Amino acid sequence: MPMKILIKNIKGLAGAYEESPLFIRGNSMENLPMIENAYLAIENGVIADYGKMDDLSGITDWRNLEIIDADGRFVLPSWVDSHTHLVFAGTRELEFEDRIKGMSYEDIAKRGGGILNSAAKLAYMSEDELFERARPRIEKVINDGTGAIEIKSGYGLSTDAELKMLRVIKRLQKEYPIRIKSTFLGAHALPKEYAGRKSDYVELIIKEMIPQVAAENLADYVDVFCEDGYFDLKDTLAIVDAGLDHGMKSKIHVNQFNALGAIPALVERGVVSVDHLEVLGEGDVEALASSNSIATALPLCSLFLSIPYTPAVDLMSQDAVVALATDFNPGSAPSSNMTLAVSLACIKMKMTPNQAINAATINGAAAMEISETHGSIAPGKVANVIITEKCEHLSYLPYSFGSPAIDGVILNGEIIRVFE
Ligand SMILES: [Zn+2]
Repeated sequence: MPMKILIKNIKGLAGAYEESPLFIRGNSMENLPMIENAYLAIENGVIADYGKMDDLSGITDWRNLEIIDADGRFVLPSWVDSHTHLVFAGTRELEFEDRIKGMSYEDIAKRGGGILNSAAKLAYMSEDELFERARPRIEKVINDGTGAIEIKSGYGLSTDAELKMLRVIKRLQKEYPIRIKSTFLGAHALPKEYAGRKSDYVELIIKEMIPQVAAENLADYVDVFCEDGYFDLKDTLAIVDAGLDHGMKSKIHVNQFNALGAIPALVERGVVSVDHLEVLGEGDVEALASSNSIATALPLCSLFLSIPYTPAVDLMSQDAVVALATDFNPGSAPSSNMTLAVSLACIKMKMTPNQAINAATINGAAAMEISETHGSIAPGKVANVIITEKCEHLSYLPYSFGSPAIDGVILNGEIIRVFE
């Protein structure tokens, strides 16, 4: 692979800064810098330079230089998918059929399906097998233009199985060039053997799981499914605090089906992100507006479950920082397609293409605390970019929904794929 890449004749270079912001708040998310007729230079895996073609005064050293003639294509930062459950044992298409026939997600969960179904499949699977199953998924993620991803545990629900999942994530980190952050989600559902003894399970998480996860340095964050029938606000805050005691901040599943009033308390504890937010209650938006916690919308899950979409326009109009992620998981969002998430944000949530792209890049990076290196194009930042198909406007990318109009993917300054 060449050490240097020059992309020339770029129709529009989007999301490029001399000094990138770490996130973009509220209505400012409409601002996506665009340089027409541009070039982008990459060297040693990072962005070296960019500008207008007229100013491409001189690459003096043409050795080992790979030139890509974008010829009317746009270039933008790679997607950052800040919320996924990519490591899982098996798919759940039979539940999909049940839901088509009329059962709700909650009905399926009560019957022992849903997350517990995933946990049962994972319990007896070896770490090697789990890793092998995750491989093609992460390879697809990379090929589709995602340059950084967060992956959660949460289908183990026992100390051994949760640690097994986190070790698989660690192996993916070592094996693949994509930036990965890892989140411990022991509080994803109550295991069957703890039925009626939720406080015992929460205690297991706090006294045993979190200390072991921290001791083996297996996770960057702690997560909880804070929802009626899962973990309430008190459980959630106790787990968040236990994470903080062990040096791990939180990213929390909250307000998917019910507004439990958790967001102000979570924001006060400095959670990195609150994710889902399909339902918002009093005080929730205000709390987000005055904090740096990222409000992460998961439109693929809303589509797949036919539940409301996160009111991103309201959140932005009140100055929250909004990110987009896939929630890739076998039950409620079996797709890792970030480009489709961006399309849905435009179609169903009425975000503009600029807002959705900012949400899926720099704000996603902020939701993983990697926006100093990822999520935008700036000198010295990791060279993760997408090259679109030939098109007149960048909005063609979300417009051509369902079939990502992406002709090229560069990750860490290496060409993953490019048009001929
Ligand atoms: Zn999730």
